[in-house]
Amino acid sequence: MKNRALERLIYGLSLLLTSLPFFSIASGHSSLRDTVTGNGYKIKTIIVDAGHGVRPPGAVGNYSPGAPGQYSYERNVTLAIALKLQAEIEKQLSGVKVVLTRTTEEDVAWQKRADIANENKGDLFISLHCNSLPERHIREIVGHKHGKPIYHTEDVPDRSGKGVLLLVYGFHRTKEEEKAIKENLIENDSEMNSDPDPNDPASLILMNEYKRKYRQQSIHLAELLQTEFTEHDGRHSDGIREQGVLVLCHSAMPAVLIETGYINNPDDEAYLNSEDGQNEIVASIVRALENYKNEVESISQSQ
Ligand SMILES: [Zn+2]
Repeated sequence: MKNRALERLIYGLSLLLTSLPFFSIASGHSSLRDTVTGNGYKIKTIIVDAGHGVRPPGAVGNYSPGAPGQYSYERNVTLAIALKLQAEIEKQLSGVKVVLTRTTEEDVAWQKRADIANENKGDLFISLHCNSLPERHIREIVGHKHGKPIYHTEDVPDRSGKGVLLLVYGFHRTKEEEKAIKENLIENDSEMNSDPDPNDPASLILMNEYKRKYRQQSIHLAELLQTEFTEHDGRHSDGIREQGVLVLCHSAMPAVLIETGYINNPDDEAYLNSEDGQNEIVASIVRALENYKNEVESISQSQ
């Protein structure tokens, strides 16, 4: 590592120390200012990821059809919203291109989705899903035989879930994510002109610094999204959670997974399948993205 790395190590350490109070997700205030670099950075590419899909003919491995509703499927809802979201982002956010990870009903493996995001040098990754509660296992006594109860067991649907949930990838990261960050960092950062060495403490600090930035930016975007869904659309939110989501952790960019509603709740299913519901979800995401873009770009301009 060269002197540049040492400079950044010291800078990274000082940032780390000054921003520790903002680490808690419960505080609701992630410090965006510390995480945005100068030089007039602009958001140019947003990756929109429609969750799930049907197994491609002849494909092997794990494919994920997504949750079923009473008459619709998560995979169809996510694709419909993704296509609308692409059109609206490109119409309303000037200079922003959208890359979809899936454009047909066929599923795309999560590794491939992350590759598409990284190869297209996405600035943000938005993954669209629908939530669903597992069935409840009910056991009841239906009679007695020789003084002992006879049980009847049944799985009944739990349709009580409602509203949105936002997931960001947790602080515990994987080697694969570090690899993705490393590759993006070398390509995108002109200051980084040597391959980070995983055994070099300076390299590790740089890597951790990047991870911290992505995490904070992801949480901030999730907060903006939640505000639109709850305050503008009046929808319930289960909150913002950190969770190990493979497709998020392999994307070397801020990433949020949006559970757009509970497909196994009849009201949410109707909303998720309606033109009005889909348009409202899309409009909320676009407003949040516009706010995020304006904030990040104005901070970058002022540095
Ligand atoms: Zn899903």
